[in-house]
Amino acid sequence: MIPIDLSLAIGLYLFLALGVLVVFWVTTDSRRRTRDFHLEESHHWQCGLCFHRYVDSVAERFSRCPRCGNLNHR
Ligand SMILES: [Zn+2]
Repeated sequence: MIPIDLSLAIGLYLFLALGVLVVFWVTTDSRRRTRDFHLEESHHWQCGLCFHRYVDSVAERFSRCPRCGNLNHR
């Protein structure tokens, strides 16, 4: 068995626990940012008639252009 000081053991334990928390926080935050980006990207529409770009967060397959009234689909 390796002789180790109690304060060093506690310090190593806290350091490793903090490292695990930091890794968990970074991976969770990066997943959330990726998911939010994809959600925002799916709400972007471009009209096929007037090429106006707009955001419609309600429509999924069909969306009406706010500028010319053209019905756009995915
Ligand atoms: Zn349009």
